Amino acid sequence: MSNMNIGIDFDDTIADDPELFKNFSSTLSPNDKIYIISSCDRQTEPFIDDERKTKEEKLNAWGIRHDGLFFALDPIPQGKAKLCIKHKISLMIDDNEDNLEEIRKSSPSTLCLRYTPKSSR
Ligand SMILES: [Mg+2]
Repeated sequence: MSNMNIGIDFDDTIADDPELFKNFSSTLSPNDKIYIISSCDRQTEPFIDDERKTKEEKLNAWGIRHDGLFFALDPIPQGKAKLCIKHKISLMIDDNEDNLEEIRKSSPSTLCLRYTPKSSR
């Protein structure tokens, strides 16, 4: 199988079960890329920088290897779909159905997988 670019949402996805995603990331080939495709409540530079720092620290503390951390611009579903196209994401994992619906529409080559947070199971 050729290398894959995997996109994973942060809030309510990786952050909901870091152990699961750490195990998942360790099953991938080192040539597969893991991109964290997140969003930010406020989209001004200093806020995004802070958000990046916080999320990087958490990912490193959880031991989840990643090859990039990207923030979708508003509107978020479209912003995430654009990032999936730009980074040639083969598989995107997100808890938000609106995001996945937009990704299916705009980036048909991306396989979408919905993650259900523990609290919603
Ligand atoms: Mg989410």
